[in-house]
Amino acid sequence: MELNSLHDLYLIELKDLYDAENRIIEALPAMAEAAKSPQLKTALEEHLQETRNQVARLERIFNSLNESPKGKKCKGVIGIIDEGEDMIDETEDSPPAVCDAALIASAQRVEHYEIAAYGTVRTWAQRLGRTEDAQLLKETLQEEGQADKKLTALAESYINEEAESAR
Ligand code: FE
Ligand code: ZN
Ligand code: FE
Repeated sequence: MELNSLHDLYLIELKDLYDAENRIIEALPAMAEAAKSPQLKTALEEHLQETRNQVARLERIFNSLNESPKGKKCKGVIGIIDEGEDMIDETEDSPPAVCDAALIASAQRVEHYEIAAYGTVRTWAQRLGRTEDAQLLKETLQEEGQADKKLTALAESYINEEAESAR
């Protein structure tokens, strides 16, 4: 794809996010499965449902643009998920809170990657006069921010403390 305009960039970044979100949907069930704390498990499962809505928002945007959401591979999220899977393997026999602290570390990397990407496309949508897109992207951006904050709250409330005193 030739990138000659802000609109071209906008489209390619939306495709990147579409691929990213779908990979996150595939990865989250194993992360929720690996979570030891019920609260963390629930938070990851809830974010899975939110992520499905986020894909639906992107599909609405692609429909209104008359463009396909396919065509880009998000190498960034592939790498972050790959590292997360390594972490799950490496903490398999660890104390529960250590395993959960590792899961939170991986999940927050994903959230921050998404927050960066959605912040950019939302700003570009405004600049391009795509007001409805900007609103949808803002909703997702807020969900990603809340997911990130929830993970911080879980880590700070007890998981990090238990991980520190484990073994
Ligand atoms: Fe997302
Ligand atoms: Zn990417
Ligand atoms: Fe997310």
